[in-house]
Amino acid sequence: MGCRAKNTTGTLVRVALNQEGRLVIGRDAPGRGAWFCRLAGTELAQPGCLEQAAKRRAFSRALRREVPAQEVEALLARARERARMGWATSPPVLVPQVPVPGA
Ligand SMILES: [Zn+2]
Repeated sequence: MGCRAKNTTGTLVRVALNQEGRLVIGRDAPGRGAWFCRLAGTELAQPGCLEQAAKRRAFSRALRREVPAQEVEALLARARERARMGWATSPPVLVPQVPVPGA
């Protein structure tokens, strides 16, 4: 679900609503779950995928329970923060190619 991208479970994360009404991430989290694209290298979902689900009110539909808006926001905030950190560290460091004298 989420962005509706065709995907395999290996690249998805499962989000479930626990007894306390908190959204938790985990394949074994109890309760009905919803699947989202995994943010590469993390256990979090991609912010864009969560945003699309939030816009379509897909959380409550998929989890068959009313999901508190602040829980969706908190999950999104974590994902955005992690994605931002990822961008800060992932671009390859460009090493200038210095011509070797005499080559
Ligand atoms: Zn997605």
